[in-house]
Amino acid sequence: MGLLQQTRELLRRDQLFPFMMPELNPALDISHRTILYMEGVSVSFDGFRAINNLNLYIDAGELRCIIGPNGAGKSTMMDIITGRTRPDSGSVWFGQRLNLLTMSEPEIANAGIGRKFQQPTVFEGHSVETNLWLALATDKRVWPTLLARPQPAQREQIDQVLETIGLRDQRRLRAGALSHGQKQWLEIGMLLMQRPQLLLVDEPVAGMTHQEMDRTAELLRQLAGAHSVVVVEHDMGFVRSLESKVTVLHQGSVLAEGSMDRVQADPRVREVYLGE
Ligand code: ADP
Ligand code: MG
Repeated sequence: MGLLQQTRELLRRDQLFPFMMPELNPALDISHRTILYMEGVSVSFDGFRAINNLNLYIDAGELRCIIGPNGAGKSTMMDIITGRTRPDSGSVWFGQRLNLLTMSEPEIANAGIGRKFQQPTVFEGHSVETNLWLALATDKRVWPTLLARPQPAQREQIDQVLETIGLRDQRRLRAGALSHGQKQWLEIGMLLMQRPQLLLVDEPVAGMTHQEMDRTAELLRQLAGAHSVVVVEHDMGFVRSLESKVTVLHQGSVLAEGSMDRVQADPRVREVYLGE
């Protein structure tokens, strides 16, 4: 493909972006205040029930923390929400109208659910701001070769995201030169470029310094409200600092739910964590 043709292709696809912006997604109906419903969800792998009659409800704008021992089903739960794993039974809805069990992984992502995996996957050779720009691309294999420039609206969005993730001063730095914590923030920023309504974040602070953990807690608290944020995390000090409602998963079901103080005082929760 010639450069002119590539640029035409880019501009054409650029016009599609508004339709991919979830806040304009007319199908997402959160009039009942709940953005995610999981009801009676079960899935087995080779006869082992990783998720067992799970019921989980997330409010629009809520920050929720999911904790639980290793193997409790936390990552599998996220796999089900994002369409990577199909449950054997149960229902999973995004707002009132979007049945996630009938949607493909890309459809779910485009509908406004963004997921951050544990390992950051930034483009190390590109600058911080180029990473954010490239995050708008749906096909990352094609876009890095394009020579086009972001449009004014996208520049503004990049500026806003840089401000949010606290990397304004590092915008021209190669992503590979960032600290581990900064790479995690950049990846959260890359998710934000796609304007998700619901963010799923798996173990964001593993390997971070205490200072980076504090800033991450601040960032996630700040994102709540305009977004719904579900955080899976092991570090109890960090979970406490989020000051959110906590759901304890155990053997694929909800064992306890409530404030951090309340779930930590629950004898069943204590028993489950004794083995850790
Ligand atoms: P957590 O994230 O809470 O540590 P996981 O959701 O990763 O737990 O795993 C829950 C259980 O399901 C574990 O026992 C795990 O080995 C099993 N499991 C998860 N995914 C698969 C899979 N694709 N195939 C087989 N077993 C799996
Ligand atoms: Mg996990």
